[in-house]
Amino acid sequence: MNYPEKIIISEVGPRDGLQSIDTIMSTEHKLEWIRSEFEAGITEIEVGSFVPKSILPQMADAYEVVRKAKKIDGLTVVALVPNFIGAKNAIEAGADKICLPLSVSETHSKANLNKTHDQVLDEIRNIALYLSEIEGEKPDFEGNLSTAFGCTLEGAVSESIVLRLGSRMMELGCQEIGLSDTTGYANPMQIKKMIRSLKKEVGNENLNSVHLHNTRGLGLANVLAAMEEGITTIDSSLGGIGGCPFAPGASGNIVTEDLVFMLDSMGIETGVDINALLAVTEKVQSFIPNESVYGFTKDSGLPKGYSKGWGI
Ligand SMILES: [Zn+2]
Repeated sequence: MNYPEKIIISEVGPRDGLQSIDTIMSTEHKLEWIRSEFEAGITEIEVGSFVPKSILPQMADAYEVVRKAKKIDGLTVVALVPNFIGAKNAIEAGADKICLPLSVSETHSKANLNKTHDQVLDEIRNIALYLSEIEGEKPDFEGNLSTAFGCTLEGAVSESIVLRLGSRMMELGCQEIGLSDTTGYANPMQIKKMIRSLKKEVGNENLNSVHLHNTRGLGLANVLAAMEEGITTIDSSLGGIGGCPFAPGASGNIVTEDLVFMLDSMGIETGVDINALLAVTEKVQSFIPNESVYGFTKDSGLPKGYSKGWGI
């Protein structure tokens, strides 16, 4: 099987992980986490979400976190934006990339963002227009298809809606599309089929990333399936932060350390020093002592005599 030689791991813990736990991490600790993970070799980090403080107090310092993270030379600073106002603030703070999620399940979109598909598409249109008027440096704009493999409210979602919304986002001015299994419903066959169809719809070069949850334990299997279809950027969360306390590692994002271990042991380039990364996990755990931090590699340690491309 042919896999890409190099994978970009996009760390989403400071956003997806921290927004899912009750503890509010201080700005200082968030930056220490981001800096340490960058030093361990992670070059892309989603550092926050520009949602109103009243909705997600954990993300209230997103502006400051983006501003300060931008000082780390070589780091791609990603911000999630739910709407035009959020995007304007993220752009002003200096984000390198902004991602706007559009829930393929309209029921989910209405329940979470209080917006219909058309209303979210309007926000995308306004953001793209605003970006087109900025001269000089400006962030990349990614449209993210969330709940693309099923929704906890609607159940199955149809592939044709995923394709239609993906192509609409490109028409409105997104530069690329990301595919998210927000609910952890996807299986490897479904991942492969969806990526193939969506690449055909939006152009091979415009779909490069996936965001997977490990809710039913299929996270890393889905990563391999996505890589077989040419995906080169994978989202993951350090320590699987945000997972469900009643089912360890279950509902959170795939675990960065386990993802790095899989790729590194397969001889695939990630740029990450796994020992340094495991030290970052310990540091981050000390910042949130009352929250659970997961990971098979963290719990079991590296195999005896381990080195990159070990055993192949
Ligand atoms: Zn997620």
